[in-house]
Amino acid sequence: MTERAVPFYCPYCGDEDLEPYENDGGWHCRACTRAFRLRFVGLGALSAPAAPAAPAAPAAPAAPAHHGGREGSA
Ligand SMILES: [Zn+2]
Repeated sequence: MTERAVPFYCPYCGDEDLEPYENDGGWHCRACTRAFRLRFVGLGALSAPAAPAAPAAPAAPAAPAHHGGREGSA
């Protein structure tokens, strides 16, 4: 990981009285005594959660295609 994300507010109570917790990337809120950790999960636009699943490409049916290649002489 590159750098630690620094929260400005406690995500639980909104207080700003935060201190590093356990030197493990966690933060402790002195107001509500909760400890939490921030995690970076990605960059970029969100994909629409309600988007229908992409239609799967029609797979080629397992037709009994004549397998080319060398043909055994009869
Ligand atoms: Zn808090």
